Amino acid sequence: MKKTIFLWLICLQFGLAATPYWSKTGHRVTGEIAQRHLSKKARKALSKLLDGQSLAAVSNYADEIKSDDRYKDFYTWHYVNLPLDKKYTEIEPDPSGDIVTGIQKCISVLENRNSDHADKVFYLKMLVHFLGDLHQPMHVGRKIDKGGNDLQLRWFEKGTNLHRVWDYHMIDDFGMSYTELTDKLPELSKREIEEIQKGDVYQWVEETHMITNEVYSSVEVGEKLRYRYSYKYWPTVEQQLLVGGLRLAGLLNKLFG
Ligand SMILES: [Zn+2]
Repeated sequence: MKKTIFLWLICLQFGLAATPYWSKTGHRVTGEIAQRHLSKKARKALSKLLDGQSLAAVSNYADEIKSDDRYKDFYTWHYVNLPLDKKYTEIEPDPSGDIVTGIQKCISVLENRNSDHADKVFYLKMLVHFLGDLHQPMHVGRKIDKGGNDLQLRWFEKGTNLHRVWDYHMIDDFGMSYTELTDKLPELSKREIEEIQKGDVYQWVEETHMITNEVYSSVEVGEKLRYRYSYKYWPTVEQQLLVGGLRLAGLLNKLFG
């Protein structure tokens, strides 16, 4: 038993577990950006719902419950499989749900006055997480390679895959805390923020999907990625974290503001 736990810890430490998530740090940045852009009223209502916890603090909840069988119905909600040349509205939706229908479900529970408290708390935490995932290009990837999970690459000396490069390596290798990362993002004007917050989940998934196309074309199978790749795409990572956080704030201000 002890050995199993030890091995599991080693896996976590070295990132061997192939859990698909937009780095824990990335999700916290999205939560933190949203937190900083809440209206006073929304901030108060959310703090009450979350027992004083911040959006950053709850942003990884949806990943934390993944290994618990009671929540297996939510597994497919973290992503959508989308062929590179198709729009979301052109595909047959996954009957188990996907990131688009998942976000819609969260919104519908939160805007329903009759939803009970526990449901509101649960779907709020899920929404915080899914807005992050929606802006990770590999969460809107191809089915054939499981959103880049089967597209093997090297990241410096390590064997990895394209999904993991975007989920994890680029953000975590940067070595900054979520608050440091949030602090270094550009301050936008009110008008710029409103522009980003426009639209709905259907438009946002298409925007991410355009980046997904670019990301797939950015590598060859087996390629060794190094600093050059990181430098080239870091601005895209920052942009997606920022945009995801601002849109989360926009949604929450509408629901609770
Ligand atoms: Zn996720």
